[in-house]
Amino acid sequence: ATPTAVMVATGVGANNGVLIKGGDALERAQMVKYVIFDKTGTLTQGNATVTTAKAFTGLERGEFLKLVASAEASSEHPLAKAILSYARHFHFFDDSSDPTGTKNDVKSGWLFDVSDFSALPGRGIQCFIDGKLILVGNRKLMAESGIDISTAVENFVVELEESAKTGILVAYDDVLIGVLGIADPLKREASVVIDGLQKMGVTPVMVTGDNWRTARAVAKEVGIQDVRAEVMPAGKADVVRSFQKDGSIVAMVGDGINDSPALAAADVGMAIGAGTDIAIEAADYVLMRNNLEDVITAIDLSRKTFSRIR
Ligand code: ADP
Ligand code: MG
Repeated sequence: ATPTAVMVATGVGANNGVLIKGGDALERAQMVKYVIFDKTGTLTQGNATVTTAKAFTGLERGEFLKLVASAEASSEHPLAKAILSYARHFHFFDDSSDPTGTKNDVKSGWLFDVSDFSALPGRGIQCFIDGKLILVGNRKLMAESGIDISTAVENFVVELEESAKTGILVAYDDVLIGVLGIADPLKREASVVIDGLQKMGVTPVMVTGDNWRTARAVAKEVGIQDVRAEVMPAGKADVVRSFQKDGSIVAMVGDGINDSPALAAADVGMAIGAGTDIAIEAADYVLMRNNLEDVITAIDLSRKTFSRIR
């Protein structure tokens, strides 16, 4: 293709909200064999919602939610935001003594004091409330900390995961005090795009830090066969490299800080425009409309510009 053709294609992309950082990236996209999608915020809408909150050990639900929300208040994770918003709503509005929610004064400090907060990447968070350790996260976190999970609780979590929800476990003072179920619906166009890629001879793959059961349920819903789950934040780039081993050209689509090493490692990195700045910097393409159809637009544009239709 001539420099003019590349310039025209870049302009066509820009008009469609597909920002292309350079002619090399535009050229590589035509040869993409695998497109690896991050799950949360890329295939899914990224506005997670708590659908279930169950307290055990006779703990009152409001008290349970207040503990979890206090612990999560310092986290930037989308799951933390979902938990905070649910707990805040419960605290201020689900109060029969205050049906209109007029007590709603977020400034009044309704959360417990927390100390020694730390985020545990790929697992959850921990901190101290009233001098006692609180852990919020997945099974891996509970297992590492030696928290006992009864068969009944395990079955409850499995049930959540099989319906594509993320199960979050909460332990306080070494005892499991409750479980939350969090749903994050697929983007509306997701399954059409997966189908379209397959028809173009491109294999879609899903990679996530979330657990295997939830990952498989989401993958099934969207029509992806190849899933990699429980991937630690540093591991997503390794997944990209494993697909590149036989010389295949690999695209990665992601939105999070976690995704940026994988976006950089990919032959074609595509960042969701609504994603974090770090992901956008690491990528070759930015999909400004946050619409996955633009993954197809980008590959099409490259194929047409370099007129190599396979
Ligand atoms: P991804 O963005 O690919 O879904 P992350 O590495 O951010 O993966 O998170 C992986 C898993 O770690 C989550 O599915 C959740 O189980 C747990 N986790 C991470 N951060 C938190 C948090 N702030 N609160 C509760 N659980 C968390
Ligand atoms: Mg994500």
